[in-house]
Amino acid sequence: MKAGVLERVESLVVKEVPDPQLEPGAIVVKVKVCSICGTDLRIYHYGHARIKLPHILGHEIAGQISAVGSRVSDCHAGDRVAITPRIACGKCFYCRKDQDIYCLNNPSFGYQLPGGYAEYLLVPERAVRYGVVNTIDDTVSFEEAALAETLACCLRAQKTSQVSSGDTVVVVGGGPVGIIHCRLAKANDAARVVLVERETKRLEQVNLDSSDKIVDSQKSNVEAEILALTEGNKADVVIVACSSAQAQEQALSLAGKGGRVNFFGGLPPDQSRITIDSNLVHYSEVSLQGSHGSTPDDNREALDMLARRLLRIDDLITHRFPLDSIREAFIFAESRIGMHTAILP
Ligand SMILES: [Zn+2]
Ligand SMILES: [Zn+2]
Repeated sequence: MKAGVLERVESLVVKEVPDPQLEPGAIVVKVKVCSICGTDLRIYHYGHARIKLPHILGHEIAGQISAVGSRVSDCHAGDRVAITPRIACGKCFYCRKDQDIYCLNNPSFGYQLPGGYAEYLLVPERAVRYGVVNTIDDTVSFEEAALAETLACCLRAQKTSQVSSGDTVVVVGGGPVGIIHCRLAKANDAARVVLVERETKRLEQVNLDSSDKIVDSQKSNVEAEILALTEGNKADVVIVACSSAQAQEQALSLAGKGGRVNFFGGLPPDQSRITIDSNLVHYSEVSLQGSHGSTPDDNREALDMLARRLLRIDDLITHRFPLDSIREAFIFAESRIGMHTAILP
């Protein structure tokens, strides 16, 4: 089959690789869509401790089952599916405590396992049994199903930070993830959603109805804007949906008393130290939280929300490239001209 292989850092080539070999407990998926997320771009430039090159990247995957092993009973050839990238081991300290999100040995597609920038994906037995294969409703497109992975991560974050009815939610970062957070906050019945972004030009491509106010952080004082919008009370929840130390440092000052701040975007490993005013945590009881990844349950919930049309994400994939043009796709994704870019093998 054909696959986009990262041979070494910043060297991505399309080449023939062996077809996945079906095993009795496994399935093979014909990949229809695999989107490019910020993590893939970071791996392209810097590699990753969990990835041995050469390797096939891509973890936001949707497709159609093309072959099913003899021991698999609940999946069928032809099923339209979304794949959750992480596979928990079921045996480690955290898995035994029912906290499989923190699994100590969780191989993932596009990391230890070959990813979705290929014509076919092998889903090994262990992954099938853990439940990473979710069937999608006829009304949900493959593109939405690939993005459901991102929605699932956002869902988990908003549960952690208890976004609820009547809340004021500030989302910092207007990439696809930030837009999904805004829409999800509205679906979670937030009273007011404020989006903070510095490259507002990019926002012209998408519907911003779910954001009650857009604050351009290049042009205005974000803290003063949030104070004015909330009659001095500031936000209940602040979600930092970008990889910016400065945004993380500022986030605490945007949260009101008892507010929750969620660091949704990671920082580069050598630049991950920040300075915060710890009195905001002590006197104002602002809690500092983080979220990373999702479980198959989050993914199922995301797919269910999409099937019920509780929020739309289909417009966030603004650019599509065939697998043959994966290098151009990565360069384009990095330009931040488009919103979300997808590979259609
Ligand atoms: Zn991703
Ligand atoms: Zn585990």
